[in-house]
Amino acid sequence: MSEMCEKQVLLGMSADDIAKLPLCEGFRARQIYGHLMDGRTFDEMTSLPKELRAALSSKYVASPVEILRIFKGKSGTKKYLYRLLDGGLIEGVYMPHDYGDTLCISTQIGCRMGCKFCASGLDGLLRNLTPAEMLGEVICANRENGGTAKKRAVTNIVLMGSGEPFDNYDNVLAFLDAVSAEGGINISERNISLSTSGVAPKIRQFAMSGHKVTLSISLHAPFDALRSSLMPINKAYPIAEVISAARYYFEKTGRRVIFEYTLIKGENDSDACAKELARLTRGFPAHVNLIRLNEVKESALKTPEKDATEAFKNKLTEIGVSATIRRSLGGDIEGACGQLRRRYLEENGEGEGK
Ligand code: SAH
Ligand code: SF4
Repeated sequence: MSEMCEKQVLLGMSADDIAKLPLCEGFRARQIYGHLMDGRTFDEMTSLPKELRAALSSKYVASPVEILRIFKGKSGTKKYLYRLLDGGLIEGVYMPHDYGDTLCISTQIGCRMGCKFCASGLDGLLRNLTPAEMLGEVICANRENGGTAKKRAVTNIVLMGSGEPFDNYDNVLAFLDAVSAEGGINISERNISLSTSGVAPKIRQFAMSGHKVTLSISLHAPFDALRSSLMPINKAYPIAEVISAARYYFEKTGRRVIFEYTLIKGENDSDACAKELARLTRGFPAHVNLIRLNEVKESALKTPEKDATEAFKNKLTEIGVSATIRRSLGGDIEGACGQLRRRYLEENGEGEGK
């Protein structure tokens, strides 16, 4: 572990907590907090005296995240490869939209859920990300796109990168508090979506937490045998439990639940699947988001033709299910999360931590 890692990281702390630290007392704390939220290094905090900036950088680390590579895709989409203090690598996608720009962030390095179609889980879980690291992803990308805390470039966040947010529950909730804090980058929870593979007890716990983000649940299959073969977590929390937790979430928060459904050719795109999916999501406000599989080279699973995707959507709509086909997220730039990191590691040797 490098010397850097032993220094205290300031990003992620509240201004009040920063004020308790040596060199940061009094009005300096708010100044430092403001600079951190804009994504500045200590060197760039020019409203502070030069000696103080030098003293701060010998004692503290401003942000635990830096952008290592940027890959540009179609229509303004960018994919970031970030490096963490211990050399760990994570990725994120920036997507401009008319209603505001969305950043997809990672919550873990790798993932232990092992879904068959996903590149993030191929090597299992390396470690959880800290609240500061998740916040660092947002702050770096906001700055890289010309934003500040007051004039944001990133206006929406989706927790849909690598990792299972509910497998890192406490840190994710602390991140939600930090990113939505007034006086900080202050992204409203109404503009944040969290996607889970269906950790039913955590969905229930989250429903009671008072957080107001949009909940997406990755369903991907309406039959237990099929879902278990694609998503091993289904053996622990089968479909009935996930749906019951989703209903509970709606009852407690009044917010409709989004079900994500990645279409995989010949696996989950039949009429029978559409019918059963409709049955499962009936009776409470829900929406189905259809995603075309981003093919991962380590897996034989294929994406259905565009026509088949449309047909599946039409079938759902006919039965009365609210459904849309999601625009591919950076499919032209190693879209599926986890792929970019893997490619970087392959090309540069297993370089993490070095
Ligand atoms: N672990 C959480 C959040 C991260 S994955 C979850 O599983 O929900 C975010 C979404 O991307 C999930 O719906 C996931 O199933 C989907 N996904 C993962 N790999 C994909 C791929 N290769 N093609 C299309 N969607 C994929
Ligand atoms: Fe983990 Fe989500 Fe990928 Fe499944 S789809 S392995 S839960 S990141």
